[in-house]
Amino acid sequence: RRVQAIGNQLADSSIPAVFKVAPSGPRVAGKVVIITGANSILGIGRASAHQFAEHGARAIYMCDYDGSHLEAHKREINALWPQVDVHTRQFDAADEKAVKEVVDDAVKRYGRLDVFFANAGITGPHTLFTQMEADDFMETLRVNTLSVFLAAKHAAPAMQITSAAKPSPSGSIIATASVAGLRSNAGSSAYSASKAAVISLAQTAAFQLAGTGVRVNALCPGLIETGMTAPVFDTARARGTQGRIGQLNPLKRAGHADEIARVALFLASDESSYVNGQAWAVDGGLSAGLPYVL
Ligand code: NAD
Repeated sequence: RRVQAIGNQLADSSIPAVFKVAPSGPRVAGKVVIITGANSILGIGRASAHQFAEHGARAIYMCDYDGSHLEAHKREINALWPQVDVHTRQFDAADEKAVKEVVDDAVKRYGRLDVFFANAGITGPHTLFTQMEADDFMETLRVNTLSVFLAAKHAAPAMQITSAAKPSPSGSIIATASVAGLRSNAGSSAYSASKAAVISLAQTAAFQLAGTGVRVNALCPGLIETGMTAPVFDTARARGTQGRIGQLNPLKRAGHADEIARVALFLASDESSYVNGQAWAVDGGLSAGLPYVL
């Protein structure tokens, strides 16, 4: 109400109203969403599917090369939000044919694609780069970076297709990078390099798609307890050292998948209509500065 009041004041004065209040209602109402890396029970992909369903998505494609939990996730979402069409797809996010097929399916069924959340990822080898096999380095780039390139390549033209269901071109491509792409990660050079490339790719794509209605942003989580990091947390719990995990973080804790999913929801929604080409750190402040050590 306060924002509305300020908006009215601006409209009443000679100053042009430079913003309008975002429409109320479900935040991604009617949108068709593709998410890769959606199988993991603790993962960011599944948590995001819940956010999109809760906030009005028309259809969600939950995709992963590991299909072991996808049908269970679909049942779970439909029990909570029966109106959402949930589709499951088992494929490698770096397989161009499969990526194109899922995009084409969304356009064929719904006449629109609104959101591609390119979220699939692997940690890659945790070894010194002097001991790393070139094949392992390349596999990390294939899964983490090539997958984002393919998502943007095929989603962007689909998001520009207009139909009765979507009269003007629009779309949001969100790529999960990492704070390890913003700052080097001593543990894994391949992972850091792959995620830095994701950020650069998202920013370049945002420029190249300027004016088409399609926005591209990179999401950069800090340490989040998910399937990927479960071994770190499990080991720390077994040793009784879990308290140390968040010690260097200003918030003194690791994050939760939901805390990333809520930002993905924002970037997917029209509320973020002026957010483009950004690397959004969602890390409790970890990348904001150096830890203060006396
Ligand atoms: P997760 O392991 O729980 O989920 C990742 C999912 O990606 C899994 O379901 C996995 O099967 C899937 N996947 C892996 N390779 C794939 C491929 N080739 N094709 C399709 N699916 C594939 O981990 P998460 O933390 O939810 O990871 C999601 C994203 O977040 C990843 O890109 C990861 O790099 C990124 N990230 C995670 C953290 C963290 O601390 N957990 C931090 C920064 C960035």
